[in-house]
Amino acid sequence: MTKYLLLAGLVLFVWWAWRKARTKRGAASQPMREVERMVECAHCGVNQPVSESILANHRYYCCAAHFRQAQSDDG
Ligand SMILES: [Zn+2]
Repeated sequence: MTKYLLLAGLVLFVWWAWRKARTKRGAASQPMREVERMVECAHCGVNQPVSESILANHRYYCCAAHFRQAQSDDG
């Protein structure tokens, strides 16, 4: 009798572990597509990808002209 109980317990455990592993895998399969961060030009306020922006003095600019204009505005 104990044998059958152990067997039933084992089957239940395997079923539970299989279910847990399946749900875990499902949750982990999120899209790994990297969305590029958008930053705002400190001069004109245009939003554009961070890779296309100019970073100067901890601020982002959409182009070199706006960076220069911001510099002249400050100084
Ligand atoms: Zn700009």
